[in-house]
Amino acid sequence: MKKILAVIPFAFASTAFAQSQATVDAHVAEATRLAGSDLGALMVLCKPAPASRPPQAAVDAGIAKNIARPAPAPGKAFDNLYFIGAAWVSAWAIKTSEGIILIDALNNAKEAQELIDGGLRRLGMDPATIKYVIVTHAHGDHYGGAQYLVSKYKPRIVMSEPDWVQTETKLEFDSPSNWGPVPKRDLSVKDGDTVTLGGQSVTINITPGHTLGTITPTFDVFSNGKKHRVLLWGGTAFNFGNNIPRMDTYIAATQRMAKIAQEQGIDVMLSNHAGYDGTMAKLEALKKDPKSDAFVIGTPAVVRGLQVMGECAQAQRDRYLLMK
Ligand SMILES: [Zn+2]
Repeated sequence: MKKILAVIPFAFASTAFAQSQATVDAHVAEATRLAGSDLGALMVLCKPAPASRPPQAAVDAGIAKNIARPAPAPGKAFDNLYFIGAAWVSAWAIKTSEGIILIDALNNAKEAQELIDGGLRRLGMDPATIKYVIVTHAHGDHYGGAQYLVSKYKPRIVMSEPDWVQTETKLEFDSPSNWGPVPKRDLSVKDGDTVTLGGQSVTINITPGHTLGTITPTFDVFSNGKKHRVLLWGGTAFNFGNNIPRMDTYIAATQRMAKIAQEQGIDVMLSNHAGYDGTMAKLEALKKDPKSDAFVIGTPAVVRGLQVMGECAQAQRDRYLLMK
């Protein structure tokens, strides 16, 4: 018996035996511990993800249901950052002295008109000053309103190369009944590039996983006379099915961004879906007390948030390996 064990190569042993329900549970337990009482919204990521994509009719119905949710009021998060999103998916406007850098374009033209145009106007800004639209990734809930904005205001559309390629070849997800058309190819960015307007820079971090070229922007914001730094995680859910390399890149991206958050003192973590970052409650808190800095969670919490996502990804990776 001893002799047989001795000849099992380590690599074989690790792929065949390292994952178990116990390792899944350990990653979920670690994520739960890291999430504490403040980051529990991220724990939805630790729920088992589907092994394959749902059928198109189910995708369409789910998206339609999310789009039908009544939109929240737009709001100011920082002196130079505004929420103009829907209930399900967010759009963020960075206001500069030379116009607006928009992050994401919502589901379709109707939402872009009502929530981006309308929201910016309600907040005292002119949508005609949108100069850049950074599309975090090539799923229609983020690009669907882009072509409407281009036809109206001619902003530059910014996306990563892998995600531009996806819009030109085969979309991973589509829902033509809900989403506007893919934007025409425009600016292609890579990791470390910056989008700069009116003296404000947005750094492009490529955090692959959710899509192959998901963009997680980092940038400075200001409130109550202080500078803070934001990380806006650009693609969260595991909705690509059983794909171990994708899980590996996702895990690596959370680890890399946790290191960057630590190095740069990033103290605000946002999402492009308000369910993950508590945007509505934080905007309410700011309305009641503009000095509350409700969006500033501190660098240790940002790092913990990224670790929660990484642990949930490791749990899901182990679940997928156990299916094989
Ligand atoms: Zn997506």
